[in-house]
Amino acid sequence: MTSLSPAEQLLQDLGITEPDEIDVEVIAWSVGAWVRYRPLPQGDARIVGIGDRAIITVDDRASRVRQRFSVAHELGHWHHHHGQRLLCHDASGNAQADTCEREADRYAADLLMPRSMLAPSMAEAPMSIALMDGIARLFQVSILAAALRLADIHAGRFALIVDEPDGHRWFRRSAALPKGWHLRLDAPMDEQGGKPGSQPKQWSAPACRHFRGRNLSGIRLRCETAHAASGRRLTLITAPV
Ligand SMILES: [Zn+2]
Repeated sequence: MTSLSPAEQLLQDLGITEPDEIDVEVIAWSVGAWVRYRPLPQGDARIVGIGDRAIITVDDRASRVRQRFSVAHELGHWHHHHGQRLLCHDASGNAQADTCEREADRYAADLLMPRSMLAPSMAEAPMSIALMDGIARLFQVSILAAALRLADIHAGRFALIVDEPDGHRWFRRSAALPKGWHLRLDAPMDEQGGKPGSQPKQWSAPACRHFRGRNLSGIRLRCETAHAASGRRLTLITAPV
């Protein structure tokens, strides 16, 4: 049995066992942090700590799912980086700062979507946009946060491609995707073009179109796309098991 992460341990200590019990303000209070909502000129949230007390300030104009993730992220800093400079670093390129941000994001994902609650919610459902959407609603997180969490945990063979509004494209692979399959990030994805608010669009494509590697012939991928917050587009490419 895998050991609990710090965030999952905290949920267990607090007796929280259901997704709708994950109240980030109450959890913050339990570790000495008070959450307040204000307009912030920069960033989504910040934390200021003195001794064993902290104040987390969250931008009151952000969406609720974003606010929840921000509180959980700042609690990650509070847990991991206590006593250090607790400023969030956005894509700073500084390796140490990036490591801190990843640790805080990991803590947030563990706190908002703990494995013990996620496993029954997945219920062996195949990876799909619908599953991402269902997890996002159940755990009150963004569809991107749900997708990234599923990429860590789900047993399916898939890759998640994220197109940022500025044209930058990045991806995340599931652990089960064959190591020798290398994603073609420059593959054309013209046919999806769904409009915001529309149903996710689906299509099928030969594996060699999206991957380079061996044993790709004859394999068809299931592709789906959906729009996420902040103008992002998510494309899910799933290989049969
Ligand atoms: Zn941060």
